[in-house]
Amino acid sequence: MKIHEYQARELLADAGIPVPEGRVAKTVEQAVEAATAIFGEGAHQVVVKAQVHAGGRGKAGFVKVVDSVEAVKEAATFMLNNKMVSVQTGPEGLDVTTLLVAAAVDIDRELYLAITTDRAQRTNTVIASSEGGVEIETVAHERPDAIIKMPTHPLDGLQPWQARQIAFSLGLKGKQISQAVKIMVNLSRLQVRTDASLVEINPLIITPPSDEFPDGEVMAIDAKFNFDDNALYRQKKVQTYYDPTEEDPNELRASKAGLNFVALDGNIGCLVNGAGLAMSTMDIIKLHGGDPANFLDVGGDASLEAITEAFRIILGEDKVEGVLVNIFGGIMQCDRVASAIVSAAKEVGFTVPLVVRLEGTNVEEARRILEEAQSELPTMQTADDLGDAAKKVTSAVVAA
Ligand code: GDP
Ligand code: MN
Repeated sequence: MKIHEYQARELLADAGIPVPEGRVAKTVEQAVEAATAIFGEGAHQVVVKAQVHAGGRGKAGFVKVVDSVEAVKEAATFMLNNKMVSVQTGPEGLDVTTLLVAAAVDIDRELYLAITTDRAQRTNTVIASSEGGVEIETVAHERPDAIIKMPTHPLDGLQPWQARQIAFSLGLKGKQISQAVKIMVNLSRLQVRTDASLVEINPLIITPPSDEFPDGEVMAIDAKFNFDDNALYRQKKVQTYYDPTEEDPNELRASKAGLNFVALDGNIGCLVNGAGLAMSTMDIIKLHGGDPANFLDVGGDASLEAITEAFRIILGEDKVEGVLVNIFGGIMQCDRVASAIVSAAKEVGFTVPLVVRLEGTNVEEARRILEEAQSELPTMQTADDLGDAAKKVTSAVVAA
């Protein structure tokens, strides 16, 4: 699960990591009100930031540092009325419904700091770089030596001596070192405590020297967190950050019906039972030159209603030009799938080619149901095995 920047900043602040204070705004009026208050507290500049579950906002024009309430109004109006399109969103972009308005800070240096689950090392690894702010993937690609990696203890997290090594490698000096060490150690503890699979601060900044901070202040001005969904049950606070408007609507519908749905880029909708069968179905479609539009696993014992909902979801997608049903009935009864096909046909109508391959429990009854409903399923073909099914659906889609 992902969360918004303003929520991540709350977690950072609670963990003792310095973050400029911000306010959340849902409308232009609220953004203006927040900015008026922030300027009133003595800020010279205010930053307006779109809150979406994707980065690359700066380059897309959805992070704006401005110096008047009038300019905040303009930035907020733009962000709330345009889709945010960045390298991380895909061409369709994301709607912006929430803004963060915060006092802007002056920046001397931008660093990169993250901790992520490192499967190869079987632990969490700190990733740091003195080249923050820009896309870290580009730095990793062009200048791998500019990336520092430090594996941590899976439960105890990053130790202060390790954090000091990282601080030295980043070229920090004077009082910057103790500030950065504290931030890194606290971030590591936060990551372990919240079952986060990724915590990323980009940029971690150093402000110009001030009376209070003669070597500058080290602070976070952006943050991105991903959490392990399997651990959410024990993360009550993190659960409250869940934002359904940021999730794929079909994945949401499917999970409500107890189905596993993953949207893909192709045009062949797949309805399958079991993740293993789903994967081999996708492979064999690819082998025959097709492209799956989704991965929909109805699981072992879905109800008639749930399977009908699965068809509604698949058929509701414009990109779907053909449907392949591949069921191996063990616990799942084939006749239930057949009945769901018929009720979906009645309700939504199969206008696209449909190829059905059923095998296993109650398959005879299933065949009878489908035969009887033939007139309602004019685009249906049956298949003998998986290879036959994949061939039939890919050629039907090409022909259609
Ligand atoms: P992202 O593009 O989605 O990662 O959004 P960020 O929050 O990281 O902002 C992008 C860039 O905007 C940062 O790398 C900074 O250069 C700049 N920026 C963001 N907030 C501030 C701020 O408070 N002051 C200044 N001077 N620049 C900022
Ligand atoms: Mn950033």
